[in-house]
Amino acid sequence: MKIEIIRNRSAFRADDLRKLIRRACKAVGARGDKLFTINDGRYPTWTGGRAVVGSRAHEARGVTLSIGRECPVEDIARVICHELMHTVGARHRDMTPEQRACSQAVPWAEGFELRKKPEPEQPTPESPAERGSRLRAEREAHARAMLAKATTRRRRAVSIERKWAAKVKRYERNGR
Ligand SMILES: [Zn+2]
Repeated sequence: MKIEIIRNRSAFRADDLRKLIRRACKAVGARGDKLFTINDGRYPTWTGGRAVVGSRAHEARGVTLSIGRECPVEDIARVICHELMHTVGARHRDMTPEQRACSQAVPWAEGFELRKKPEPEQPTPESPAERGSRLRAEREAHARAMLAKATTRRRRAVSIERKWAAKVKRYERNGR
């Protein structure tokens, strides 16, 4: 069963979400052949969902979940199950009150490790001392480059001078 997540803007890793969705599919007897769009939850401890199914063919068929970054995994699992039930044709009146309210038991989700995506590393701001030594190093590197350029120019000028001096000497020797 291939679970296809077309977008994952939640705090959680897509591979773990796929695994959790796969387990939920088994629990409710859904095939999991819908497209899943995962958003970051509007509230940190809240998860909501929406399933587009049946006759609304003009809309992309799939399940959209908004998962709060601090939401307990069991709550996420309950919402996933609720939405998956919609994908297999269940209406709210076909559900138990617990399934309808997303408070049903989900023993298979207990202890499931839903890992967060790694946080992007923040560059540490430069201290005044660090800035001072960086600028000094940059200026020193510039001075070294300019010195190398000046040395090359001087050597080239000396060799040009020697070449013409030798030529002049030849004329003087031959002319006498
Ligand atoms: Zn519903």
